[in-house]
Amino acid sequence: MANAEVTKNYIDGTWRDSLSGTRIEVDDPSNAETIAVVAEAGPEDVEIAVAAAHRVFRDRVLIDMHPYDRGRMLFRVADALEARSDQIATINCAETGKALDLAHDEVRTAIRYLRYYGGLADKLEGRSIPRGANLVDYTVRSPFGVSAQIVPWNGPLELTARSLACAIATGNSVVVKSPELAPLSGIEVARACETAGLPAGAVNVLSGYGKTAGQALINHSDVRHIVFTGSMATGRMVLKTASDRIVPCIMELGGKSAAVVYPDADLDGVVEAVRIGTFLNAGQNCNNLTRLLVERSVADELVERVKVCVEGLSVGPGRENFEITPLISQKQRQGVERACQTALSQGARLVIGGTALSERCGYFMAATIFADVGQESSLFQREVFGPVLAVTAFDDPVMAVDLANGTDQGLAAGVFTRDIDRALWTADLLWAGQVYVNGWYVGGVETPFGGVKQSGYGREKGREALDGYVQTRNVGIRISQPSSSNRQRRAK
Ligand code: NAD
Repeated sequence: MANAEVTKNYIDGTWRDSLSGTRIEVDDPSNAETIAVVAEAGPEDVEIAVAAAHRVFRDRVLIDMHPYDRGRMLFRVADALEARSDQIATINCAETGKALDLAHDEVRTAIRYLRYYGGLADKLEGRSIPRGANLVDYTVRSPFGVSAQIVPWNGPLELTARSLACAIATGNSVVVKSPELAPLSGIEVARACETAGLPAGAVNVLSGYGKTAGQALINHSDVRHIVFTGSMATGRMVLKTASDRIVPCIMELGGKSAAVVYPDADLDGVVEAVRIGTFLNAGQNCNNLTRLLVERSVADELVERVKVCVEGLSVGPGRENFEITPLISQKQRQGVERACQTALSQGARLVIGGTALSERCGYFMAATIFADVGQESSLFQREVFGPVLAVTAFDDPVMAVDLANGTDQGLAAGVFTRDIDRALWTADLLWAGQVYVNGWYVGGVETPFGGVKQSGYGREKGREALDGYVQTRNVGIRISQPSSSNRQRRAK
C-alpha cells in the first residue's frame, strides 16, 4: 500500500499527522494483507492531545454544561455512528477479522452505550447530609479531569465507546489510545464525535503502540484517571506507573471463565453456549467460556457432543460470516499454538484441533478441545485468548465450585442445571464479576461488568460504571440564625 492515504489522529478537534511522520500498517487477519495505513502517534502527539483535553477540563467546558446537554452530545455521537453503521461494521470486521454479523453487533452495542450513558448524564446526583440547625451539607460528584483510555483490539469500537461515554457523561475529557493492531474503529468513533460537534479537545483519539504512546499517556502529569482494558501482564505495568502518581484506575483485565455443568443440565443448551462462548471471534473475548467443568457421569457424552459441534463449524474470513474466523495476528496464533503444546506436555487429552491452519494465508487456528485438564496445568490457569476449550470432570458440587474458583482470575462464570436451588447455590459461590445461568454472555450494556481477584477492579457497563468516573466532594456550610428567628423554629 505504498501510496495509501494515511489516516490521521484526532487531536483538539482536528485531524493531525504524527509529528514524527511514522506509520502503522493495519492488516486484515484473514489474509494478512495491509488494508490501511495510520499515523503513529508518539509521545509528542500525546503531549498535544493531553494539553487539549486538560484545557477543556481547566476551562470547565464540560463541567459547566447542563448534564442534559452532555447527554445529548452522546446521543448525537450515537446517531453519527448509526448513520454509517454498515461502513463501520465492514471496517471493524476487516481490521479484527471477526464475523461481519459480530461486527454489526459491536456497532449496535457501541451505539447503545452512548445512548445509555447519554440518558444517565442528568441522573447522577449527590446527596444532602443532615447535620443540625446551623449546618447545610451536600455532596457533589465531580469528574477527575483528563481520562486516559487504553483500548485492546478485540472489541475496539464498543470498548472505545463505552469508556468514552461514561467519561463524557460525567464531565471528564478523554484521550483514547487505540490498539495498534486495530486502530480504525477508534478513528470511526472520533469521526462520529466530530460530526456530533463535541467541543474541540473533549475527545482525542490516537493510534499508537503501547510502549510509546500508551506509556507516555499514562505517565503524563495532567492525566488524572486511567481506564485500562487489556491483559493482566500489561495491566500490572500500567498500575505500577499509576501508583507512582497516585492516579485512580479502572482495570478491565483478562479471565479464565468456567462453566459448571450438572448432570441434569440441558446438554444441547451447553453445546450452544460453548459454540458462542468459546468459539465466537476465535475465542478472543475476555469473558469467553474457557473451562468446562462437567459432572463425571455426563463428561464423556458432553465432550463427544461438543466435538461434533466443533467438527461442523465452518472456517473462513469474517467478512463472509464464517464461524471460525482468524486470530488477530501471527504472534497471537503462535501463542495459542504454544499453549496447546504445553497442554499436551502437561497430560491433557487432545479431543480435536490443537494446530494452526497454516494452509490458509490468514492467522487461522483450529477450534480445539482438550479433556482431562488438570487444575495445576497452564491451560487450566492461564488465559489463552484463542479458540481453545479445557474440559475437567468433577465428582460433587463442592469440588465443582472449588475448581471454578481455583484460578487467580474471576471475570465471568456460569452454571448449567434445571434445579433452581442448585443454580442459585452455585451462582452465589462462583467468585466472578458476572455469573451466567443456563447460557453464556447473558449480561448486557445495562448489567455491571468487571473482574474480581486479578481480573481487575472497577466496573464498566450498567449504572455502576459511572461511579468509577466521578469523585465525591463535600461542601459544608455554616449558617447563622437571626436571633429573632428562634421562636419561629417550631415544627407544626
Ligand atoms: P494488551 O494488554 O497487550 O494491550 C492492551 C492495550 O494496552 C493496547 O492498546 C496496548 O497498546 C496497550 N499497552 C501495551 N503496553 C502498554 C504500556 N506499557 N503502557 C500503556 N499501554 C500499553 O492486550 P490485548 O492483547 O490488546 O487485548 C487482549 C486482552 O484484553 C486479553 O487479556 C483480554 O482478556 C483483555 N480484555 C479485557 C476486557 C474486559 O473488559 N475485562 C475486554 C476486552 C479485552
